[in-house]
Amino acid sequence: MSLLSEVRTEPSAGWPSGSMEAVTIVGPGRLETASVPVPEPLPGTVLVAPRHVGICGTDLELFHGTSSYLADGRAATPLIFGHEWCGRVVSADPGTGWRPGDRVAGQTMVPCGGCARCRAGRRGLCRRMREVGLYGLDGAAAKYIRVPGHALARLPEAVPDRTAALVEPAVTVVESFARTGCSFYDRVAVLGTGTIGLLAVQFARRVAGEVDAVGVDPAGLALAVRCGADRAIPVGETTAGSYSLVVEASGAPEAFAHALDLVEPGGRVGVIGVANEPTVGVVAGSVALRGVSVLGIQHGLDHYDRTIELFATGALTADPLIGATFPAGAAAEAFAFMESARSGPPKVLLDLTEWEGDR
Ligand SMILES: [Zn+2]
Ligand SMILES: [Zn+2]
Repeated sequence: MSLLSEVRTEPSAGWPSGSMEAVTIVGPGRLETASVPVPEPLPGTVLVAPRHVGICGTDLELFHGTSSYLADGRAATPLIFGHEWCGRVVSADPGTGWRPGDRVAGQTMVPCGGCARCRAGRRGLCRRMREVGLYGLDGAAAKYIRVPGHALARLPEAVPDRTAALVEPAVTVVESFARTGCSFYDRVAVLGTGTIGLLAVQFARRVAGEVDAVGVDPAGLALAVRCGADRAIPVGETTAGSYSLVVEASGAPEAFAHALDLVEPGGRVGVIGVANEPTVGVVAGSVALRGVSVLGIQHGLDHYDRTIELFATGALTADPLIGATFPAGAAAEAFAFMESARSGPPKVLLDLTEWEGDR
């Protein structure tokens, strides 16, 4: 039985109708703020007004038409983007337990709950997976988003909207340290000083014995020190075999080989960065003979509530990572800013609160 069929199907009070604004990727390099129908109520679903939406490399790949989601046919344009988001509940199927006004962060991955993998506790590998803003479900860069009630996490007052937009990337970081079994015995290197890398430094600061940040951007390395890195090391000045755990968070094709070079015998490499080019310089025999474990970190679907707590207590902090916030009408400028040759705070947000006024 699917999750959807278990919930009641009473009408959802206060669910608006008509049309709404939505920032849509209409084709390679083309963004439009379009007027689209407000999604209709469905059993088990919640209508949320997004307040902040983060933009990341995945959105840029969709924008440029280079995304693997487009190549394999899961995603298609026109597409309402936005998978890193928070908002307020506007209306909900009563069976979901959500109420108007509830503050929420949204999951990207929305598993079906009913397939063999979901029932075996491996929701992240769901055979009928949908991902908000990527495929199967519209994204949050709109006045409203409709999502299943089970795909939302409650936000406490201690986590403001700007911060909450970073919960989605942070769950992947939490998963990387959970899967690699990080402890105070570990000497950690984090490769990359983007949003994921800086969050990984913050997390490792709390759970590892030492953490070094490795990167190419001097401003990013300075930020990593602010985030708690013991040392900030430019690529090219690192020492081979000196870390028990390496977290690859840059997504640069050559970084995987670098991570294998940096890890000590018996160590672990957590791969979060998504490099879509082949990596040159990897010798599989070295992985075998040195007993290195390589773990691909897909996402952190099971860590939303814990990650929100980490932001609430200050173990993770978003503010040093936010480079710019653009209003709803300036999505094209936000994408252009993302791609400009810039350094420093990596995260770019869209602030959609202006769309709440005409509700
Ligand atoms: Zn993202
Ligand atoms: Zn499933």
